[in-house]
Amino acid sequence: MNIHVVQAIGITGGLLLILGLFAPLMSTPIAVGMNLVSSEPDKIYAGVFAILAVVSWLVIVSGRFEGLFVTGLSSLILLGAEFWSFQQRLAAIRVGVMNALAGNPLTGITDISLNFVQIQWGWAVFGVGGLLLLMTPLLKNEALVLSKLVECPRCAEPIRENAIICRFCGVDLEALDEKIESEEHSDQEQVVE
Ligand SMILES: [Zn+2]
Repeated sequence: MNIHVVQAIGITGGLLLILGLFAPLMSTPIAVGMNLVSSEPDKIYAGVFAILAVVSWLVIVSGRFEGLFVTGLSSLILLGAEFWSFQQRLAAIRVGVMNALAGNPLTGITDISLNFVQIQWGWAVFGVGGLLLLMTPLLKNEALVLSKLVECPRCAEPIRENAIICRFCGVDLEALDEKIESEEHSDQEQVVE
């Protein structure tokens, strides 16, 4: 797996967060295929998911993949919060309808149709998207090890282990190494004193 495949996986993760906005989350006898953008109380969640996707893409473009731990985890937490909020509202609707129909001979029928709420595949789209974002930094480390690449200490772009000059930012890696070594050396001397 090379670094471009890893990038593609991260970009796909963000894309799934966007696609998830339009995917059906729940079907009820009244609202078929309800999704985040069409549901008024969920617009705030939709906005945050969109922001997380865009931030993830910016993180990937900048090469600082570790940022995806934050956006990936945030999107999974948001998903949990959204699911909880869905369940709460559903329960409230049930109670409301039950009260309104108390003593009505049709209560039995309504009870059946309210229980006919089906969770749809939209949740899985968000879940997979969040997991892909979380996995991307781990896969990147794997890809670096496999291709014998290391991160440039200055610009964090992947460069060859034995490179002398970074092909991205042009830093002189030998000079940088010597500088780091001499700093470590002087640190050790200070410890001895
Ligand atoms: Zn560099």
